[in-house]
Amino acid sequence: MEFNLADTDALMFITARPEIVFTEGHGMWLSDHNGKKYLDFMQGWAVNCLGHSPQCVVDALTEQAKKLINPSPAFYNQPMLEFANLLVENSCFDKVFFANSGAEANEGAVKLARKWGQLNKNGAFEIITFDHGFHGRTLAMMSASGKPGWDTIFAPQVSGFVKAELNDIASVEQCITANTVAVMLEPVQGEGGVLPASREFMQALRALTEKHQILLIVDEVQTGIGRCGELFAYQLAQIEPDIMTLAKGIGAGVPLSALLCRAEVACFVPGDQGGTYCGNPLMTAVGAAVFKELLRPEFMPSVREKSAYLSQQLQALSDRFGLQGERGEGLLRALKLGTPIGSKIVEAARNLEPVGLLLNSPKPDLLRFMPALNVTNAEIDQMINLLAGLIQVEMIEATE
Ligand SMILES: *Cc1c(COP(=O)(O)O)cnc(C)c1O
Repeated sequence: MEFNLADTDALMFITARPEIVFTEGHGMWLSDHNGKKYLDFMQGWAVNCLGHSPQCVVDALTEQAKKLINPSPAFYNQPMLEFANLLVENSCFDKVFFANSGAEANEGAVKLARKWGQLNKNGAFEIITFDHGFHGRTLAMMSASGKPGWDTIFAPQVSGFVKAELNDIASVEQCITANTVAVMLEPVQGEGGVLPASREFMQALRALTEKHQILLIVDEVQTGIGRCGELFAYQLAQIEPDIMTLAKGIGAGVPLSALLCRAEVACFVPGDQGGTYCGNPLMTAVGAAVFKELLRPEFMPSVREKSAYLSQQLQALSDRFGLQGERGEGLLRALKLGTPIGSKIVEAARNLEPVGLLLNSPKPDLLRFMPALNVTNAEIDQMINLLAGLIQVEMIEATE
């Protein structure tokens, strides 16, 4: 493939992209227009839970595309029914609404909570969210998020979101008023820097929300679908939330998301919720195929083994170079560099020859790892070796 920088002018500028075009992806590997290969530890931001172009997704897409692509969301279709039942059978939730992105599922969660508040809590509407939380890029989700600066970029904000501190139950309790209808959080703050909510905090939140009869919403867009070593990260704390959202891994690369809730909370009436592509069979067929892979008895134990191995190898790397350790849940992990060299390492890793390495740095002093859930130990070793070489170069440069 020929790549002309001038062709990029037609695209609205939203972020600085490297001057490469990815043309193929298989498993943990991507290839660019020059034929160079990259070991991909980003996987579309924790999206490709089975790696690039897994066979089950290719099969589900091609077979479903030949049968039925979109009858309209006003009708049932078979993949929509199959996948909703799989999710209900394997979670603490009873009802599912399919959508197309994480932000859209989260908007649905907020609407559902506000509706529930109108019916059950005298119109209470406020939702407690968290500093450094991330819930998506619609106006309301930017307001729900706790990303520094996001309160002013597109002012005025959507009102009704109050911020507490992760892992500080007193800060949540202080925010509760007669207007509070729910608490919403990521079980591990992903964009915020892979900061897990502790088991005790999740349990305390469940107890607190029950005491005040308000809803607990988990945004599992990044943490769900096996990413944290359980099908859903709320299971790590052995609690049962009222509402959950899923996206990213749920479609293994195709646009699909879901809003789930317990039966008592399912209070939408006709006209409240919908969307042109919501529940279309092409995407829900993929969702069902991917979820069935995760349900194979050996799949989740192998994710936990890979997670332990990655964690161990990152810790060893940290020990070797005197870094600040690692953290995370399952295959959502971060290495604490101790110095603000994250973006420099990301760029140097991508530019490595003959094979590049794709990493992400959500904070200047942090690297994030979100490989496919079926990554091999050999691929983890290869990543660690490449990264060790880069950190060594940084160390030498820093002492010169
Ligand atoms: C990525 C992400 C979102 C937004 O999902 P989109 O599909 O980009 O809208 C929301 N919440 C969390 C926790 C995420 O990681």
